[in-house]
Amino acid sequence: MSNVRVRFCPSPTGNPHVGMVRTALFNWAYARHTGGTFVFRIEDTDSARDSEESYTMLLDSLRWLGMNWDEGPEVGGPHGPYRQSERMDIYKDVATKLLKSGHAYHCYCTPEELEEQREAQREAKTTPGYNGRCRKLSEIEIAEFESAGRKPALRFRMPDHDFTWPDLVRGDLTFAKEHVPDYVLVRATGEPLYTLVNPTDDALMNITHVLRGEDLLSSTPRQIALHAALAEIGVGSGKMPLFGHLPYVMGEGNKKLSKRDPESSLLMYRAEGYLPEGLLNYLALLGWSIGDDNEFFSMEEMAKAFEVSRVSANPARFDLRKCTSINGDWIRKIDSADLANRLISFLQSENLLPEKPTEAQIAALSKAVPLVQERMETLRQGALMLGFLFAKDAGITSEVTAGVGAFAIDESELANLNSDTNQALEAAANALESLDTWTTEQIESTLRSALIDGLGLKPKFAFGPVRLATAGRKVSPPLFESLELLGKERSLARIRSGIR
Ligand code: GLU
Ligand code: ZN
Repeated sequence: MSNVRVRFCPSPTGNPHVGMVRTALFNWAYARHTGGTFVFRIEDTDSARDSEESYTMLLDSLRWLGMNWDEGPEVGGPHGPYRQSERMDIYKDVATKLLKSGHAYHCYCTPEELEEQREAQREAKTTPGYNGRCRKLSEIEIAEFESAGRKPALRFRMPDHDFTWPDLVRGDLTFAKEHVPDYVLVRATGEPLYTLVNPTDDALMNITHVLRGEDLLSSTPRQIALHAALAEIGVGSGKMPLFGHLPYVMGEGNKKLSKRDPESSLLMYRAEGYLPEGLLNYLALLGWSIGDDNEFFSMEEMAKAFEVSRVSANPARFDLRKCTSINGDWIRKIDSADLANRLISFLQSENLLPEKPTEAQIAALSKAVPLVQERMETLRQGALMLGFLFAKDAGITSEVTAGVGAFAIDESELANLNSDTNQALEAAANALESLDTWTTEQIESTLRSALIDGLGLKPKFAFGPVRLATAGRKVSPPLFESLELLGKERSLARIRSGIR
């Protein structure tokens, strides 16, 4: 066990998104690489924005992705509780100590006064930020504010020097002191802010490395100053964590990927049936590389190889097509029994399998999976391709009739079965009718001789209608194998009901 301690500390607001997962992944990989500890902390001090639903989703998402945490909610650990909403007394205590030691002071400025300050700074074209008005209030001034009923915020007193730190990703970074004014730690309402609780917990939880998104870069000099103050007043281990800022993830049109972009939603990937292996493999490439142009690797391989020094400072571009194609690679890589298992819930959500599939259905699925494993990139696609096997044979309809296993063809596809396709379907049904052995080879040679040699049809016009009538879609598993799996009776019934 090394002493490396990293943390993933999201706020439970809204749906989990891929930027968040990338941050979690890099921290997880670093912990696993070093034999350190991966701490999961929930930053839920903003009761107006945080939700229990989002909290549950966060835990569920990390579990689904297989990023197990060593300390955190449900797991516990020596530095708990790991939900900040349960640590309010700690923050109160730290705030008091910061005030008493002079590292922080009461600020009585009202929002209007602060706005006036900003306005004046804009006019004078000086650096914006708190001007330090309440840094040295006299007893009398304080008494006046108090008797006027003003409630003070707690503001951190920034030290009078520039800030430099060796960023693990970006190298030495410096912020001039003018750009880091005194900032609020606790609102006048008593509510502690991220600015206080995040570094406080990093200190109390002995975090050694802070790996997080570049969007938080500007908070780092403040946090470094706060860590120094906390060390002075004896809060935490007294050791400053090292900071590394992961590059931005860019979406379409070279804009930062936003929570509102559909491809940023983790739930979308789960719903479409991306494998955790595939999604994480892709997200690992956003700012890191394993070397040797290798873009296909497991999380174990990533953990083995992960060095923060190999994280790039350049923005990474999010490419959904590439993500999907890597997912397809993973689908081909896992064994077909595993794939069959993972497909079940997707067949169920497409209403193609009942809640409790029968043994026969499971057996049919196992046989069919190898047919689609090469052709699908997501589990949902696979389920849709296999749907024909589980669908009922109630005739073809464009309507998704209620109930499990309704066999439906898209209206637009259905139009492709018409008087022109009758000839092929009739000939196919008649030829297949006479078969005694129902094997792929038999089916193929029978259909070829009846439709291609017999009727002189081109393969597309010969087999296309048969495929559509039996599988319900143009993209489907290989036709002859599919017919074998579907069985003679069901195949014939479907081909006949495709005749218009
Ligand atoms: N709760 C913060 C966020 O989700 C954590 C930021 C950090 O890693 O310091 O943005
Ligand atoms: Zn003030």
